[in-house]
Amino acid sequence: MKSIYFLGECMVELKSIDDTTMRQSFAGDVYNSAVYLKRCFPSLNSGILTAVGDDALSKRMVEQFEQEQINVDFAFVHSTKAPGVYYIQTDENGERSFTYWRNDSAARQIMTFLDDDVIDKLAEADMVFVSGISLAILDNTELNKLWGVLETLRGNGVNIVFDPNYRARLWHSQQEAKSAFDRAFALANTTLPGVEDLAVLYGLKRADKVIQFCREAGCQEIVVKDGPSSVVTSVNGQMEVHPVKPVDHVVDTTSAGDAFNGAYLGARLSGFDVKKAVACAAKAAGTVIQYPGAIAPAEAFNHAMVDFVSA
Ligand code: ADP
Repeated sequence: MKSIYFLGECMVELKSIDDTTMRQSFAGDVYNSAVYLKRCFPSLNSGILTAVGDDALSKRMVEQFEQEQINVDFAFVHSTKAPGVYYIQTDENGERSFTYWRNDSAARQIMTFLDDDVIDKLAEADMVFVSGISLAILDNTELNKLWGVLETLRGNGVNIVFDPNYRARLWHSQQEAKSAFDRAFALANTTLPGVEDLAVLYGLKRADKVIQFCREAGCQEIVVKDGPSSVVTSVNGQMEVHPVKPVDHVVDTTSAGDAFNGAYLGARLSGFDVKKAVACAAKAAGTVIQYPGAIAPAEAFNHAMVDFVSA
């Protein structure tokens, strides 16, 4: 069975329903991608590499992973920390604002669980995914440990996948983010940047410039999400532009990029060529944005994807 592990943080999501009620769910970029990959390609092993707490909400979070058929072999339990939380408020104009409590979350301790035994098991995976958010939650010592782990895995033939997913507020400075991203691009075989991710840090405002930058960093498979109507790929030096049909009825773009990543990587692990993998990923992302929240209802999502997943 082909396998991929997504390293990072899943959080408790709280959403305001009215003045006295909040709805609680779970979300986070790597978790979202793991869910959509598994929904599209149930025969693949989609795992999460994270740390949760030893509390009731963490237990429910892991139950949610299991309900989505995500592999939890590497969902470690930290004895004293708890999961990160965020709260979404939508104002009368539909504008969303986010408040986070994640500075001391269990997931930030993930590197303490990656001993030789775990690394040996991860070395048998086909892909290991990290995002710019996964990097941002680690302190310098842990980040250095991560580079060593990724180097070892890459040396063992694991495809290292990186989505820069730049979130300025998670970094102390742009320089700090840039030096971490430089290192991650150099270690990655596959990368899935959005054009806007690299505009701020590297001044790259066009897909072809992003491709050139990623090629020079050494990535072999580059998938650039270039807004709602285009994806540009470069695989082993072969560049291709893939038009995407924009969706008319956009409800909430949260996790569009995460769904894209999960579906694309699942498609590639299943042997799809790049063109078909991009079409599958664009369909997944275009479906998710028609529903509120990070995780679209399973039945509607699976129904929309049926042409791809039954192929
Ligand atoms: P994120 O900001 O979450 O990374 P992006 O805005 O980069 O997401 O979009 C990711 C993908 O979602 C795009 O490459 C595209 O395939 C799809 N997408 C986004 N917006 C639209 C839209 N309005 N219509 C159709 N597809 C869209």
